[in-house]
Amino acid sequence: MPGDENTIVFGSRSGPIISVCISTVFGYGSGANLNHAMNMRRLLLISIAVTLCGSPSGAASADGKLRIICFGAHPDDCELQAGGVAAMWAAKGHKVKLVSVTNGDIGHWREAGGPLALRRAEEVRKADKILGVTSQVLDIHDGELLPTIENRRLITRLIREWNADIVMGPRPNDYHPDHRYTGVLVQDAAYMVTVPFFCPDVPYLKHNPVFLYYPDRFQKPNPFQPDIAISIDPVIEKKLDALDTLESQFYEGGANGSAELIPSDPAKQQERKREVRAGFAKRNEDLGQRFRAKLTDFYGADKGGSVKYAEAFEVCEYGRSPSSQELKELFPFFGE
Ligand SMILES: [Zn+2]
Repeated sequence: MPGDENTIVFGSRSGPIISVCISTVFGYGSGANLNHAMNMRRLLLISIAVTLCGSPSGAASADGKLRIICFGAHPDDCELQAGGVAAMWAAKGHKVKLVSVTNGDIGHWREAGGPLALRRAEEVRKADKILGVTSQVLDIHDGELLPTIENRRLITRLIREWNADIVMGPRPNDYHPDHRYTGVLVQDAAYMVTVPFFCPDVPYLKHNPVFLYYPDRFQKPNPFQPDIAISIDPVIEKKLDALDTLESQFYEGGANGSAELIPSDPAKQQERKREVRAGFAKRNEDLGQRFRAKLTDFYGADKGGSVKYAEAFEVCEYGRSPSSQELKELFPFFGE
């Protein structure tokens, strides 16, 4: 069987201790003479829970730096969707974390299991070093992600532990079930990150972060609608360098690739690498064309009209609803 559960575990999956204690203590005894004792126990347990909850985390960091956490289903999704803006935030000293919710252990036509999961974790480590961000790969099998309570707790804890101002993820309508359920899990964490007694072992967030979706082409039940578009022209080469390191997925073709993609002749190998890189440059150029109107809204007609490479995002209604001024503060790149 592929993927040892303990091979690359980074995230905690333990449930809250408090709910177990309450059900155990309240599960026995009856009669009036027990009421007082039970009430006392209830008070005691509530006070323990409040102590464990601690004080809420504030949304804005004391150092004035933004904190951004991006979720993707696989070790490459965040880098593809938000690698440019991640590098731009990182260059200004803001703190960015890219999380792959599965370990990617079936994402190749030739190899699978633990060795592929380790290979892909190493690929994103290299990519994220180039981007200047932190990365984490959760040890959940590729192709098997489900929107369970356990996973809702896992995502909620990660957002709280990062003390996030911004959370990104895919929309929940997508061809790939792992993408869909990553979208559902991130949506389900919106609001719950602010609820004190949900996962009381990690301090709740006082302010709901802004939750944002990555773009996609799916039309049903509703198409992606950009709320912000960012020029990534200053960092396009850095983003392409990062994507170059994800060889198992792009150079070798990932799950739907084949041996025919990989030439044996070194000159042809270089040509293949150039083609892959050009494909990603074109992908970001197409986003610039597709979201030109939004670029113009944020940068003005002159600059917005001349942006070549872009990334764009849609605000999820379940997180905080930012004004356009707040979006400009969260994406502090428009005066450049
Ligand atoms: Zn994916």
